[in-house]
Amino acid sequence: MYKLHITMGTAKMEGIPSFNTAATKNPFCIKMNASADKSLICTNCYAVNTEKRYVNLVGALERNNDLFERILLDTELPRLNYAIARFDSFGEVHNAIHVLNYFNIARKNPETTFGFWTKRKDLIKKVLKMVSKPANVILIHSSAKKNKADRLPAGYDKVFTAHKKSDLKPSITINCSKSCNDCRLCYSHNDVVFINEIMK
Ligand code: SF4
Repeated sequence: MYKLHITMGTAKMEGIPSFNTAATKNPFCIKMNASADKSLICTNCYAVNTEKRYVNLVGALERNNDLFERILLDTELPRLNYAIARFDSFGEVHNAIHVLNYFNIARKNPETTFGFWTKRKDLIKKVLKMVSKPANVILIHSSAKKNKADRLPAGYDKVFTAHKKSDLKPSITINCSKSCNDCRLCYSHNDVVFINEIMK
């Protein structure tokens, strides 16, 4: 039986584990990535580019896709030994079952705080009608467009927006730093709702 693959972060996410699936097999990601609207952040998809560069990773991500299609048994959920972890450092949740599995992983690991990035407000709304968000999940809405912060959706903790340096508005404060492990703004309950980063 396959076990969930956990990706260990590098660069900004050095030392932080994350749970991911293949964006190249996610209908939402495929549609967004192919959009003619180049103001959408998905047209510069980090996940699709990563999958092209690291082809050996794709098999593991696809097996995660398959596993997250059903509600995993408690015995299949990993027990982590990390203070912080992330859901979707690349890729996106596929459906409500996928979100429920993430919440179940968080419930199994109450000592770990999970940053959960998603654009799927529709799925989150559906799931939050069924269950409450675990207290150790920081739910982060990824703004759809570059250089334009979306409003904070109901039930979310934060909004994350990527900015092209050349189009950066003077009113925007860049508060995303180079090391998540040092910063932890997205991995703790705090007063900062809007997070802005410069696109690489
Ligand atoms: S704000 Fe901090 S924790 Fe959030 S992504 Fe940027 S570096 Fe990481």
